[in-house]
Formats: sequence, structure tokens, C-alpha cells
Amino acid sequence: MKNISFEAQLLHTPFDKEDAYRALSMPVYQTAAYEFETAEAMEEAFCGRTPDHAYSRITNPTVQYFEDRIRHITGATGVTALNSGMAAVTNTFMNIAWSGANVVTSPHLFGNTFSLLKSTLAAFGVEARFCDLTNLEEVKAQIDENTCAVFLEIITNPQLEVVDLKAISAVAAAAGAPLIADTTIIPFSAFKAKDFGIDIEIVSTTKYISGGATSIGGVIVDYGTFDWSDSPVLKNWAGSAGTYAFTARMRKEVHRNIGAYMTPQVAYMQTLGLETMQLRFERQAATCLALAERLQTLDPIVAVNYTGLKDNPFYELSCAQFGPCPGAMLTFDLASREACFAFMNRLQLIRRATNLFDTKSLAIHPASTIYGNFTKEQRQAMDVSLCTIRLSVGLEAVEDLFNDITQALS
Ligand SMILES: *Cc1c(COP(=O)(O)O)cnc(C)c1O
Repeated sequence: MKNISFEAQLLHTPFDKEDAYRALSMPVYQTAAYEFETAEAMEEAFCGRTPDHAYSRITNPTVQYFEDRIRHITGATGVTALNSGMAAVTNTFMNIAWSGANVVTSPHLFGNTFSLLKSTLAAFGVEARFCDLTNLEEVKAQIDENTCAVFLEIITNPQLEVVDLKAISAVAAAAGAPLIADTTIIPFSAFKAKDFGIDIEIVSTTKYISGGATSIGGVIVDYGTFDWSDSPVLKNWAGSAGTYAFTARMRKEVHRNIGAYMTPQVAYMQTLGLETMQLRFERQAATCLALAERLQTLDPIVAVNYTGLKDNPFYELSCAQFGPCPGAMLTFDLASREACFAFMNRLQLIRRATNLFDTKSLAIHPASTIYGNFTKEQRQAMDVSLCTIRLSVGLEAVEDLFNDITQALS
């Protein structure tokens, strides 16, 4: 069938093999290993000449089905599911970087990704070049022949900065660097990474996809759009696998060696989550916009930050790239750190917890938690303010959330 909707495409992704019992929902293949008829069949599978499963650190039918569904709805060439969003970020850099390589990125990053680049990968000789990605001249000046990627988050958290994706992708492509983006903040149903020139997309599936915060996971989505033949670590793979080089090395070497594959139980829950992702997102993002508008009317709130608000500096760009309801997370500033703590402690309905896009609304004071171990100077460089509260908007009615916030401010 042609012109099939996003939901239909997602729900009717065929199984790789017909299930022995014709189960309508992909069973959880809770097994470490798989048996072979003969030594020859075993050799074929282990040498990658047949697609049979051998060991669940490398592939598993339930996890593969989750990957297939994402491949189906994104039009990607390869999808790899890992056991956390951070495992997806780490595997990606391990696949493309080498000692002496650099990553051109922004200091406005998810805290653990910042720490991975700044400390963990630095120990292996990978340099993080933090710059202002909204300034394309600065980006151009930072890229050189050792740049293994331009890396960004499509709406940064908690700063909510937006980069012109088509423009930066053109800059990266002209300089021979892949554009890699963490798109966790907007789900596949509302943002098509490929249309914006993103070569590799990374998603923490813990967020929208898990559906009610059931489990931790991550995916790497490879669009097969980058030519890796000049990459010191991928050029041989480009010779044998062409545009599939990134995923080929990921599957046959890096992810296999690191051993952080998604588990079948998690893949099962996240496949279910994926089925209702769009519905939940539409409702949560619409509530977020309505709430952001109403919070602007409250006196104790100094500023509301949501890129779907008309007075936001990124409003036009955000609408063009992500539509009128750009995600279900907003931030707002109060007068001081003390005011933020008092507000947090008075909340009755909204939960004090980290995480994003749970079905329940969650509030956190980022500076004292996610960025609690950073120095004051580092926090300032990352524009993480002591006066900011981050809110992840759930499925509650907007009235419930507004009332809880109003009473907590009083
Ligand atoms: C949560 C998050 C991650 C990390 O994902 P985990 O599943 O917690 O490992 C990475 N990037 C962004 C933007 C996130 O919100």
C-alpha cells in the first residue's frame, strides 16, 4: 500500500521470519544463545554470511524487531539499539573517532554527553571543540581534516537553543564531516532527521519511546548519507560496505566488543511504547505550549523558556524545523536558587524527579542535580542558571498542572 500513515507503517512492520505460533505481538526471545543444525551453518552465521542469530549480545529477534520498526518509519539504512541513550552516544563516538580526532560541538549538551566528550574520550586522545553552533563562521573555523563529526542536540537542554540544521549540515558536508544529532527531544513522528541533512541520529529511547518511563534504552539511526571513504577508521569498511560502512563496523566490531546491546525485555516494552508515542507526544506537547503561555502571566516567574512561544528568539526556526509544539519540556526562572527550592518542595502533583517525557509531569532544578558536580565556572560556560526549573510535561490536564504550579509559587 502506498501513502500509508506513520502509525500504520509503524504498527504493520512485518516480522523478519513468521513466528512459529503466529503470535501477533513479537514474543520476548529471552535467550542468550541459538542452536544450529550443523557445524557448516554455524560457520556461515559466525562469519556473517547468513543473518541467523548466534548470541544475544550481538543480535536478538525481539530487539531486531524494535530496530526494524524504527528503520521502517525513519527510512534509515541501519538501526542499532543499545541499553541506554548514553550507550548510543558512546558507541557512536567509538565507531568514528580515533586518537588525534576532534569533535566540533557546543557546550550546550546533555550533562553526561558533555562529560563523555570532555573527560572520558579526552583520555583516548579525542578533542572536544566547544563553540557557538549558532555562529556558522565559528563552526567553519573549528572544522579541520581531523574532525570526525559535528555533533549537536536539536533543542538543547536546559538552555533550549536551536541551530539552523540545514545550514549547519551544509557547512559540515562542505568540510567533509558528518553531522550527528541527538534528537531525543522531538520524536520521529514530528521530526524527520534525514530531511535536515543529519547523517547519524541518536535517540535516548528512555524518553518518549519507552512509554511511561518503563525502561532505559537508546538507538543509533544511520541514514547511509555520509561517504566514509576518507575516515581513518571507516575507510576500509567504506570499501567493502559503501554507504552502510558506519553500521557495518558498528555491528561487526564496535557494539559487539563494547557489549551494551538492548535486552529483549526492554525491546518488548519499548516496541509497545513506540506504538503510542505519537498520540502521547501530540497531547503532551500541546499541553506544554498551553502551559508555557499561561505561566507567562504569573508574577513570581521571571521568564518562561519554550521555543514554541512567539517571543522566543528561536521561535521562527523552531516552527520551521519542529512545528508549532516543539516538545514537552519547558523551563522557567524564579528569583533565586532558594525560590526554586521552595517551589520544588511545595509541589503536590508534579513529581520531583529527573527524566523527560514520562506520562507523569516531572520537575527538577538542573543546576543542583544534573549539573551539581560541575564547577560554577563550568555551569556558567554551559549557561545553566541557579534560578532555572525544568518541567517535563506529562498527560495530566493543563488545568491540573497550572493549579499545582500556582499553589507551589504562593
Ligand atoms: C536522557 C538523555 C540522554 C541520555 O539517555 P539515557 O537513556 O538516560 O542514557 C542523552 N541525550 C539527551 C538529550 C537526553 O535527554
